[in-house]
Amino acid sequence: MVLLTQPSQRSSSTDALDADVIIVGAGIVGATLACSLLDSGLRVALVEARPQSAGLSNRRAYAVTLLSADIFRGLGLWDAIRPAITACSRIRLSDGAYPKVVWLDSKDLKRQDEVVYVAEHNALLKPLYDRLEQSDSLHWCCPAQVMSVDYLPTCAEVTVEIEGERQLLRSRLVVAADGAQSPLRQAADVTTKGWGYWQSCIGFTVRHEQPHQNIAYERFWPSGPFAILPLPGNRSQVVWTAPHAEAKAIAAMPEPEFIKLLEKNYGKQMGRVEPDSPRRVFPVRLMQSDRYILPRLALVGDAAHNCHPVGGQGLNMGIRDAAALAQVLRQANQRGLDIGHVKTLKPYQRWRKLENWAILAFTDFLDRTFSNQWPPIVWLRRIGLWMLRRIGPVRMIALAIMTGQFGKKPAIAKQAAYGIAKSSK
Ligand SMILES: Cc1cc2nc3c(=O)[nH]c(=O)nc-3n(C[C@H](O)[C@H](O)[C@H](O)COP(=O)(O)OP(=O)(O)OC[C@H]3O[C@@H](n4cnc5c(N)ncnc54)[C@H](O)[C@@H]3O)c2cc1C
Repeated sequence: MVLLTQPSQRSSSTDALDADVIIVGAGIVGATLACSLLDSGLRVALVEARPQSAGLSNRRAYAVTLLSADIFRGLGLWDAIRPAITACSRIRLSDGAYPKVVWLDSKDLKRQDEVVYVAEHNALLKPLYDRLEQSDSLHWCCPAQVMSVDYLPTCAEVTVEIEGERQLLRSRLVVAADGAQSPLRQAADVTTKGWGYWQSCIGFTVRHEQPHQNIAYERFWPSGPFAILPLPGNRSQVVWTAPHAEAKAIAAMPEPEFIKLLEKNYGKQMGRVEPDSPRRVFPVRLMQSDRYILPRLALVGDAAHNCHPVGGQGLNMGIRDAAALAQVLRQANQRGLDIGHVKTLKPYQRWRKLENWAILAFTDFLDRTFSNQWPPIVWLRRIGLWMLRRIGPVRMIALAIMTGQFGKKPAIAKQAAYGIAKSSK
């Protein structure tokens, strides 16, 4: 048995609740997986430590790729998500103050009017939770703390504590969707590779005088990337990367001094800019788990990998993991296989681990080449930017990587792209 927390002296319930899959963590990734399994015939239990209201009041914003949008379309959730988010038709890339900028345009993809979406956490989570609430096949345990997991030959037993009461859950598979610190990954001794960056990110929202015209910005300063993600109304989310000490100092600056520095990095394109939320500092790391699967355990989302926020890929990788794992589990269940057996889970690991390595390498490459002032590197990246500006196919490849168009697409996203998604309930 693997203990996640110290045992308490509270009472315990003796009846075990049987499920096929227990998902630990109802962040966007865990909730997407639960929604993807709703009509699969598999009984799902979803365990979340924090009250639902905590996730539903989270206003952090993310860049959402076309592929993630197709997954939500395939789940029949897009009509509920789309009105609350921003669709961008253009992305502006620039190298500090260097005047020659690159425009990545939806026309380069020859697909649709939009190239990326920007969504706040609650705008994605609410439609997912609403759909889960309507389901009879899902068992919600929230707020519930996982106390221990016992991996047995034919099942896993998860003990959770809900309002001081112990409840035993039993399933064929446990999925760790419990975030970057993943208590489940650590308790199962899954080793990881990676490193902490020399940088931290400061995340906050701003209000601006002029409209953002649905343009997303990624400006590469020597200290790190500076992203502006447009939100509904005259608001945007800023993700400002800087070396750790500088990031801490920026986050603690008195407001007038902070606004001055912000305007210098932000540019004048939206007129006067003022902060609209507290500044939060996040350390940045690259991490890849050596295994995404063990007998009766699978990892998804930040529990399996973490990447640099440049290019806005982390959550999108997790949404793709969820769709891929759901596909593998549905197929295995239809064929009567044991869904918790490593042999059954191997196609998921093979599929997602390699693709995630490619994205981790891409984000690392972007951060290292653009946060570098060594003249040969500056010269090389200016050639790269020139190629992006002038050569259409180069722009198309960059956009394909950033929008999730490369690699194997989950079937649910392909169905949505061909217009055969489920209609929203
Ligand atoms: C500054 C910054 C900007 C970013 N911008 C982007 C972006 O633009 N686009 C993008 O794609 N990604 C972005 N990311 C990455 C993104 O935030 C993460 O990849 C994503 O939030 C991970 O989602 P998750 O569901 O895997 O984990 P989480 O959101 O961390 O969810 C994990 C859930 O598990 C629960 N949990 C944990 N332990 C337990 C337990 N023992 N029992 C029960 N529940 C438990 C937690 O309460 C939580 O609800 C950014 C990251 C940073 C730091």
